[in-house]
Amino acid sequence: MKTPRIIPPGSTIGILGGGQLGRMTALAAAQLGYRCQVYSPDEHSIAGDVAAGHVRRAYDDVEALRSFAGQVDVITYEFENVPEAAVATCLEVKPVRPGVKPIHVAQHRLREKQFFAALGIGTAACQPVRSKTELATATLLPGILKTCQEGYDGKGQARVTDRASLAAAWEKLGRCECILEAVVDFQCEVSAIVARGLDGAMRCFPIGLNDHRDGILRTTTVPADLPADVLATAERFGLALARGLDLVGLVALEMFVTRDGTVLANEMAPRPHNSGHWTIDACATSQFEQLVRAICGLPLGPVDVMAPSRMENLIGAEANDWPRYLADPSARLHLYGKASARPGRKMGHVTYVQPAGSCRRSTI
Ligand code: AMP
Repeated sequence: MKTPRIIPPGSTIGILGGGQLGRMTALAAAQLGYRCQVYSPDEHSIAGDVAAGHVRRAYDDVEALRSFAGQVDVITYEFENVPEAAVATCLEVKPVRPGVKPIHVAQHRLREKQFFAALGIGTAACQPVRSKTELATATLLPGILKTCQEGYDGKGQARVTDRASLAAAWEKLGRCECILEAVVDFQCEVSAIVARGLDGAMRCFPIGLNDHRDGILRTTTVPADLPADVLATAERFGLALARGLDLVGLVALEMFVTRDGTVLANEMAPRPHNSGHWTIDACATSQFEQLVRAICGLPLGPVDVMAPSRMENLIGAEANDWPRYLADPSARLHLYGKASARPGRKMGHVTYVQPAGSCRRSTI
């Protein structure tokens, strides 16, 4: 039977991946009357905790994937490193949105950079380091050596200053496929999160101003206090990317803004993004609801900023401070329900929302 274009409330959404992004997607889906089934190999899934079910099987278990796909109406993924083959297997049974192409591009930094360039999206200068010959001829020094695959939150990369440190870093990264990027002297980092619906309609959330420490996102502030032309370029790049990917779903594009106001794309993720968590508390539509709307063929929601806000990640033991956030009337606390607060682990976030001064206090 042909899948209907609109997947109405009451249907079931399958989510590949069981982390906090899946969890917040499942919560938003529930608000619109959908059920979610989570597929992930993890023993405990924090997305599964708030979903109708958790299928705990491996990503290479073809039979389990087929059976999972058979029980849902549409499938999405909450992390970009989900194996392409798993997505392809699900696609034989049910629509997977955003599909194979976005992860094919996002899973490989060199491919990603080439894809950006083909769409006219500016990037830092870079060159491949995949062999001893390319290592010997690399010129972008000082630079940042990054593995082409499986790097995230600053992992799988090293700052290098000269040939000796470049060679040592390549050795340490296991002589795998890498790219060497020029170090960008940026004034700030921003991200554009774009939703694209089944009908090709697109909405870009207001650009977030991001602060990273040790490669991990710490805060996102919206509205971003940047010149209008910089914001317009960041949005244009995000929209070009969503169109270029022929996306149905969400894509986040992280960018640098150089000191002279040039916008350069760093990397993309075809899923909800940490820098979009502020949308839950301070935007007319959250990024998670927007994803549900997009993949189910519903109209996209408005993306107006309801109040200036700043999202702060709670990393590791910082989440233990939850009583402090609960006591702060401007703070909205989100805890992900992870069992152990390992250093560097994203345990939750808090969004500070500027109170609406003009609203009178309720008397009831
Ligand atoms: P990534 O894993 O590529 O997202 O990088 C994590 C963080 O490292 C970025 O958010 C930046 O703060 C920093 N970074 C990555 N690439 C560069 C670059 N080419 N120049 C300067 N800083 C970078």
